[in-house]
Amino acid sequence: MADTSADTFDAGRLEIARGDITRLDVSAIVNAANEALAPGGGVCGAIHRGAGPGLAAACREIGGCPTGEARLTPGFGLRAEFVIHAVGPRWHGGTSGEEHLLAACYTAALELAAGAGVASVAFPAISTGIYGYPLEAATKTAVRTVREFTRTHDEPTRIVFCCFSPADTEVYRRVLAGEA
Ligand code: ADP
Repeated sequence: MADTSADTFDAGRLEIARGDITRLDVSAIVNAANEALAPGGGVCGAIHRGAGPGLAAACREIGGCPTGEARLTPGFGLRAEFVIHAVGPRWHGGTSGEEHLLAACYTAALELAAGAGVASVAFPAISTGIYGYPLEAATKTAVRTVREFTRTHDEPTRIVFCCFSPADTEVYRRVLAGEA
Protein backbone atom coordinates (compact mmCIF):
# COMPACT_ATOMS: atom_id res chain seq x y z
CA MET A 1 0.00 0.00 0.00
CA ALA A 2 1.23 3.49 -0.79
CA ASP A 3 2.54 5.53 2.11
CA THR A 4 0.18 8.48 2.45
CA SER A 5 1.45 9.66 5.84
CA ALA A 6 3.31 12.59 4.30
CA ASP A 7 3.24 14.14 0.88
CA THR A 8 4.11 17.45 -0.73
CA PHE A 9 2.57 19.40 -3.60
CA ASP A 10 3.06 22.69 -5.48
CA ALA A 11 6.87 22.54 -5.39
CA GLY A 12 6.85 21.69 -1.69
CA ARG A 13 4.79 24.67 -0.52
CA LEU A 14 1.73 22.55 0.31
CA GLU A 15 1.99 19.42 2.41
CA ILE A 16 -0.17 16.72 3.94
CA ALA A 17 0.63 15.52 7.46
CA ARG A 18 -1.21 12.88 9.47
CA GLY A 19 -2.03 12.86 13.15
CA ASP A 20 -2.40 15.36 15.96
CA ILE A 21 -1.98 18.96 14.82
CA THR A 22 -0.55 20.00 18.20
CA ARG A 23 2.51 17.79 17.56
CA LEU A 24 3.50 19.37 14.26
CA ASP A 25 6.64 21.46 13.95
CA VAL A 26 5.10 24.64 12.49
CA SER A 27 5.03 28.32 13.49
CA ALA A 28 1.23 28.50 13.70
CA ILE A 29 -1.59 26.00 13.98
CA VAL A 30 -5.14 26.80 12.96
CA ASN A 31 -7.92 25.95 15.36
CA ALA A 32 -11.36 24.90 14.06
CA ALA A 33 -12.93 27.33 16.49
CA ASN A 34 -16.52 28.20 17.41
CA GLU A 35 -17.95 31.73 17.42
CA ALA A 36 -17.55 32.01 21.20
CA LEU A 37 -13.85 31.00 20.91
CA ALA A 38 -14.64 28.63 23.77
CA PRO A 39 -12.66 25.45 24.45
CA GLY A 40 -14.74 22.64 22.94
CA GLY A 41 -14.31 19.11 21.61
CA GLY A 42 -12.45 17.81 18.59
CA VAL A 43 -9.33 19.60 17.45
CA CYS A 44 -10.30 22.67 19.50
CA GLY A 45 -10.21 20.60 22.70
CA ALA A 46 -6.82 19.14 21.79
CA ILE A 47 -5.38 22.61 21.09
CA HIS A 48 -6.69 24.06 24.36
CA ARG A 49 -5.35 21.08 26.33
CA GLY A 50 -1.96 21.47 24.71
CA ALA A 51 -1.83 25.24 25.21
CA GLY A 52 -3.04 25.34 28.81
CA PRO A 53 -5.43 27.84 30.44
CA GLY A 54 -3.68 30.92 29.03
CA LEU A 55 -5.25 30.22 25.66
CA ALA A 56 -8.83 30.23 26.97
CA ALA A 57 -8.09 33.45 28.84
CA ALA A 58 -6.76 35.10 25.66
CA CYS A 59 -9.85 33.92 23.78
CA ARG A 60 -12.16 35.34 26.46
CA GLU A 61 -10.36 38.64 26.14
CA ILE A 62 -10.99 38.69 22.36
CA GLY A 63 -14.64 37.97 23.10
CA GLY A 64 -15.64 35.92 20.06
CA CYS A 65 -15.30 35.70 16.29
CA PRO A 66 -18.00 35.61 13.58
CA THR A 67 -18.22 32.62 11.22
CA GLY A 68 -15.94 33.11 8.21
CA GLU A 69 -13.38 35.14 10.16
CA ALA A 70 -10.26 34.34 12.22
CA ARG A 71 -8.34 35.66 15.23
CA LEU A 72 -4.68 35.28 16.30
CA THR A 73 -3.38 34.41 19.77
CA PRO A 74 -0.07 33.19 21.15
CA GLY A 75 0.41 29.44 21.37
CA PHE A 76 1.14 29.44 25.12
CA GLY A 77 2.26 25.88 26.04
CA LEU A 78 2.08 24.58 22.46
CA ARG A 79 5.11 24.00 20.21
CA ALA A 80 3.61 26.49 17.74
CA GLU A 81 4.23 30.17 18.43
CA PHE A 82 0.70 31.14 17.39
CA VAL A 83 -2.81 29.74 17.25
CA ILE A 84 -5.08 31.12 14.54
CA HIS A 85 -8.72 30.58 15.52
CA ALA A 86 -10.76 30.19 12.33
CA VAL A 87 -14.51 29.80 12.58
CA GLY A 88 -15.92 27.56 9.85
CA PRO A 89 -19.62 27.14 9.12
CA ARG A 90 -21.92 24.43 10.39
CA TRP A 91 -23.22 22.34 7.48
CA HIS A 92 -26.90 23.05 6.80
CA GLY A 93 -27.17 21.20 3.49
CA GLY A 94 -25.00 23.46 1.37
CA THR A 95 -27.46 26.23 0.50
CA SER A 96 -26.72 28.55 3.43
CA GLY A 97 -23.48 30.04 2.12
CA GLU A 98 -21.35 27.29 3.64
CA GLU A 99 -18.82 27.18 0.80
CA HIS A 100 -18.28 30.94 0.85
CA LEU A 101 -17.91 30.99 4.65
CA LEU A 102 -15.49 28.07 4.66
CA ALA A 103 -13.31 29.72 2.00
CA ALA A 104 -13.48 33.03 3.87
CA CYS A 105 -12.18 31.53 7.13
CA TYR A 106 -9.23 29.90 5.31
CA THR A 107 -8.37 33.21 3.64
CA ALA A 108 -8.73 35.11 6.91
CA ALA A 109 -6.42 32.63 8.66
CA LEU A 110 -3.81 32.95 5.92
CA GLU A 111 -3.98 36.75 6.00
CA LEU A 112 -3.32 36.70 9.76
CA ALA A 113 -0.44 34.27 9.26
CA ALA A 114 1.13 36.42 6.54
CA GLY A 115 0.62 39.57 8.62
CA ALA A 116 2.39 37.99 11.61
CA GLY A 117 5.32 36.83 9.45
CA VAL A 118 4.44 33.17 10.02
CA ALA A 119 6.58 30.95 7.79
CA SER A 120 4.68 27.70 8.32
CA VAL A 121 1.06 27.06 9.22
CA ALA A 122 -1.00 23.89 9.67
CA PHE A 123 -4.75 23.60 9.08
CA PRO A 124 -7.08 20.89 10.37
CA ALA A 125 -10.05 19.89 8.19
CA ILE A 126 -12.16 22.82 9.41
CA SER A 127 -15.91 22.17 9.78
CA THR A 128 -15.68 18.47 8.80
CA GLY A 129 -16.03 17.06 12.31
CA ILE A 130 -18.72 18.21 14.73
CA TYR A 131 -19.91 20.86 12.20
CA GLY A 132 -20.77 18.12 9.67
CA TYR A 133 -19.36 19.57 6.43
CA PRO A 134 -18.87 16.74 3.87
CA LEU A 135 -15.15 16.02 3.75
CA GLU A 136 -14.52 15.95 -0.01
CA ALA A 137 -16.43 19.18 -0.65
CA ALA A 138 -14.65 20.88 2.26
CA THR A 139 -11.27 19.62 1.05
CA LYS A 140 -11.83 20.98 -2.46
CA THR A 141 -12.74 24.39 -1.07
CA ALA A 142 -9.79 24.37 1.34
CA VAL A 143 -7.28 23.44 -1.36
CA ARG A 144 -8.68 25.88 -3.93
CA THR A 145 -8.66 28.74 -1.41
CA VAL A 146 -5.14 28.05 -0.18
CA ARG A 147 -3.87 27.81 -3.77
CA GLU A 148 -5.52 31.13 -4.67
CA PHE A 149 -3.81 32.73 -1.68
CA THR A 150 -0.39 31.33 -2.51
CA ARG A 151 -0.58 32.78 -6.02
CA THR A 152 -0.61 36.32 -4.61
CA HIS A 153 1.36 35.95 -1.34
CA ASP A 154 4.92 34.76 -0.68
CA GLU A 155 4.19 33.89 2.97
CA PRO A 156 3.52 31.48 4.57
CA THR A 157 6.10 29.50 2.63
CA ARG A 158 4.85 26.16 4.03
CA ILE A 159 1.17 25.26 4.43
CA VAL A 160 0.32 21.90 5.98
CA PHE A 161 -3.03 20.14 5.77
CA CYS A 162 -3.22 18.06 8.94
CA CYS A 163 -5.41 14.97 8.54
CA PHE A 164 -6.55 13.10 11.62
CA SER A 165 -7.41 9.77 9.96
CA PRO A 166 -6.05 7.66 7.07
CA ALA A 167 -9.37 8.11 5.21
CA ASP A 168 -9.13 11.90 5.47
CA THR A 169 -5.50 11.76 4.33
CA GLU A 170 -6.47 9.87 1.20
CA VAL A 171 -9.19 12.42 0.31
CA TYR A 172 -6.68 15.28 0.69
CA ARG A 173 -4.11 13.42 -1.36
CA ARG A 174 -6.57 12.86 -4.22
CA VAL A 175 -7.80 16.46 -4.20
CA LEU A 176 -4.28 17.91 -4.08
CA ALA A 177 -3.14 15.57 -6.85
CA GLY A 178 -6.10 16.67 -8.99
CA GLU A 179 -7.65 13.20 -8.94
CA ALA A 180 -10.91 14.32 -7.30
P1 ADP B 1 -15.54 21.37 13.48
O1 ADP B 1 -16.40 21.74 14.66
O2 ADP B 1 -15.03 22.59 12.73
O3 ADP B 1 -16.19 20.38 12.59
P2 ADP B 1 -13.83 19.32 14.71
O4 ADP B 1 -12.75 19.54 15.68
O5 ADP B 1 -15.04 18.56 15.17
O6 ADP B 1 -14.21 20.76 14.10
O7 ADP B 1 -13.25 18.55 13.45
C1 ADP B 1 -12.41 19.13 12.48
C2 ADP B 1 -11.42 18.09 12.00
O8 ADP B 1 -10.35 18.02 12.95
C3 ADP B 1 -11.96 16.68 11.86
O9 ADP B 1 -11.45 16.12 10.65
C4 ADP B 1 -11.36 15.95 13.06
O10 ADP B 1 -11.16 14.58 12.79
C5 ADP B 1 -10.03 16.65 13.16
N1 ADP B 1 -9.31 16.54 14.44
C6 ADP B 1 -9.75 16.22 15.67
N2 ADP B 1 -8.74 16.26 16.58
C7 ADP B 1 -7.63 16.61 15.89
C8 ADP B 1 -6.26 16.81 16.23
N3 ADP B 1 -5.81 16.67 17.49
N4 ADP B 1 -5.38 17.18 15.24
C9 ADP B 1 -5.80 17.34 13.97
N5 ADP B 1 -7.08 17.17 13.57
C10 ADP B 1 -7.98 16.81 14.52
